[in-house]
Amino acid sequence: MNKFIAVKVGKGDSFYLENMEVSFLVDGGASKNQLPTLLSSASISNDVDILVCTHSDEDHVNGLIGYFENSKKCQEVWLPGSWMSRLEDMLDRPKDFIRELYENIDDLDENFLLDSANTLEEMGDIISQRSNFSDKKKDDNSNIIPPTLPYKNEEMKFKIESLQDESSYIKPKENKEESEESEESEESEESEESEESEESEESEESEESLKNKKLYSQDNLSQFINEANFATVPFIYRKTSHQINSSKRDDIFKSSINATKKILQLATLAYNSGATVRWFEYSETESGGGMKYFKPVNSIEIFKAKKRLALEFLCLTKANVESLVFYACNEDDTAGVLFCADSNFSFQQPLNFLSNCQNLVVTAPHHGAEANKIVYQKLAPYIPLNTIFVRSDTRQSKNKKKPRPCVDYRNLIYSKYCTICYGQEIKQNIILNYRTGGWSPDKTTDCIC
Ligand SMILES: [Zn+2]
Ligand SMILES: [Zn+2]
Repeated sequence: MNKFIAVKVGKGDSFYLENMEVSFLVDGGASKNQLPTLLSSASISNDVDILVCTHSDEDHVNGLIGYFENSKKCQEVWLPGSWMSRLEDMLDRPKDFIRELYENIDDLDENFLLDSANTLEEMGDIISQRSNFSDKKKDDNSNIIPPTLPYKNEEMKFKIESLQDESSYIKPKENKEESEESEESEESEESEESEESEESEESEESEESLKNKKLYSQDNLSQFINEANFATVPFIYRKTSHQINSSKRDDIFKSSINATKKILQLATLAYNSGATVRWFEYSETESGGGMKYFKPVNSIEIFKAKKRLALEFLCLTKANVESLVFYACNEDDTAGVLFCADSNFSFQQPLNFLSNCQNLVVTAPHHGAEANKIVYQKLAPYIPLNTIFVRSDTRQSKNKKKPRPCVDYRNLIYSKYCTICYGQEIKQNIILNYRTGGWSPDKTTDCIC
């Protein structure tokens, strides 16, 4: 029997699936400490085999951090590949990373900040579209991706190039001695780095280590957090050339640091739990890796990531466009689940694999938001009429400007279930069991949105 549960996390997404003898938890909702209790409320008492994180938004990632902080274990953790780009830099040299981030934000074009950039998420969507447009650049031999946001200073282009030399150090720390040394003398470490040669050999070793070994101690993480706390001096009080947009730059800096913390927390906890960490990088055209019965739709499994500028890397981890979509199915494709995360399905990979599925569950893209309504049109030609839509969301006040779910979602002809329906108080776990013939709800009430 297969089982699907949308956990009533209150805010955000957390979906549990038992499929072909393997259990999955896709995202963990916004509440960090309550997840274990919520899981038991849905009768999920055993440890989950595989944890999947679709992107670094708090309403998806927090619960997964809580999962580990409550000493729960899993076999594997699947993380967004975009996180890998600067993971080691953030942990090994937090000061340099934060300085780079500050410089990136400081150098952002004024008009860009005025017109288009409000949040990391929005900037992430802009970067994602631009870099996919020039996707071929990724195939050259360089280890870095050129900047895509507009910077005032031409120097920024050179900065990313110097970064390449600077970061030839990608070998993870493996013994105690080494990590003690580096804490003592950050400066001498830097000068040694430039002398390192045989880069290709090292990167191969690094690939192996990233995949299988536990990388970092809790110390690396607290070191970053200390540096970050120290660095949160607002732009307004710094000597900069900007007269305008200081507070906006401040906001971007603060949310960048917050995003960094989430990423580091989850990655560090995952490695230290002993789980195997696997990375899935968003792609607009290709997909690959994963498991036979649980596959990435808009991403490829990677073992090494190219470097991006600090700011751009962080924006991408928040981009809704790049949130990861997965498809699970059983042996004869009679019971499928499409996990849409917050994606707007702007990727090009064909969706015709869905036509083979006879009984399908689809999680509502971005909690049923208006901005993602195009997904319903894209799916319609491929999904069976008995498809079930499942939506998890936060409780909403009646006077919200853009209420969720949007009209397009409400007008869908398929069966629908919500963890909390619009304007309602009651939360429920959505439980769907698959037995021969189809998915059937268990103690779960229909959507009244
Ligand atoms: Zn979300
Ligand atoms: Zn509803």
